[in-house]
Amino acid sequence: NRQWVLASRPVGAPALSNFNFLESEKPTPKQGEVLLRTVYLSLDPYMRGRMSDAKSYAEPVGINEVMVGGTVCRVEASHHPDYEIGEWVVAYSGWQDYSISDGSGLLKLGKAPAKPSYALGVMGMPGLTAYMGLLDIGQPQAGETVVVAAATGAVGSLVGQIAKLKGCKVIGIAGGEEKCRSAVEDLGFDACIDHKSPDLAEQLAKTCDKGIDVYFENVGGKVFDAVLPLLNPSARVPLCGLISQYNATELPKGPDRMPMLMGTLLVKRIKMQGFIVFDDYGHRYNEFSQDMMQWLQEGKITYREDLVEGLENAVESFIGLLDGKNFGKLVIKVGPD
Ligand code: NDP
Repeated sequence: NRQWVLASRPVGAPALSNFNFLESEKPTPKQGEVLLRTVYLSLDPYMRGRMSDAKSYAEPVGINEVMVGGTVCRVEASHHPDYEIGEWVVAYSGWQDYSISDGSGLLKLGKAPAKPSYALGVMGMPGLTAYMGLLDIGQPQAGETVVVAAATGAVGSLVGQIAKLKGCKVIGIAGGEEKCRSAVEDLGFDACIDHKSPDLAEQLAKTCDKGIDVYFENVGGKVFDAVLPLLNPSARVPLCGLISQYNATELPKGPDRMPMLMGTLLVKRIKMQGFIVFDDYGHRYNEFSQDMMQWLQEGKITYREDLVEGLENAVESFIGLLDGKNFGKLVIKVGPD
């Protein structure tokens, strides 16, 4: 059983040396337990937070403990009355080949799911995040302008497409020419701006000629600096993530911009709301899954996966995720189908 465990807590960007790749015997399930073979492992930005012991909404991974993560697994042995060999489940079994479960927290996918890995992306946590953050907090109305950063990623790509389905003008912000082209040509956004270009703020202002009504925040940092002056009165800002800050070791230099932020929120009556997807919206999964399933079947949503072969490549891929190397939802193929 190969496992990636946390060796030390990173300062700044995580490095290979923060992890250990261990190998041990395959575990054996006892009565009331199942043996799960990991087939797909989801890699997500929140895992950077779990590597740190700073106070957060969830417990950190302990030193020498297996890195946490959502997985899609096949039941390989079962001593549990509710699970048969060969069944597929969604689990939270982390960065390893095999795990033992007593069934709690498992979600059944049946014996032959069409696209099992979708349960980690468009039909899973990132999908629910995009759907609820945009529709429940963002409240987009037809004709409004919606801006989303990390626009070709797992969450952002769905936020923009759902906003298009609701009749909005959608502007993406992404890293690099290829991602920006794909946001327009493949995902149907009205425009997409490269956050690496020196005139990001000017380009965004020009493209959002009627201001911004909904800004779905995935990134923070200089992207938010460019967005803030363009927010319209009564704009909504679902605060989903701040990936540009996850590796930061200190507050940004320069003048204190807090008064400007507070002043803008006040005079423009802007509503900014953070959310943690499963805590706040887990109970509304069915509402989301019905809509998303239908949109997928009707070909209204395009979903791009960045599938990397091999558990041994998980660390490198995760480090790349925090640096914009992924193109679409990052998933590791751990075991055979
Ligand atoms: P993505 O698939 O979007 O991958 C991360 C992307 O972030 C990178 O590809 C890169 O895209 C972008 N990025 C990285 N660093 C920077 C930077 N310094 N400036 C601008 N962009 C950067 O990840 P997800 O869709 O899974 O997650 C998106 C956000 O949503 C994250 O902040 C995540 O933490 C958050 N999230 C929050 C949840 C919640 O419950 N609140 C649940 C799920 C996700 P590019 O190359 O385009 O810059």
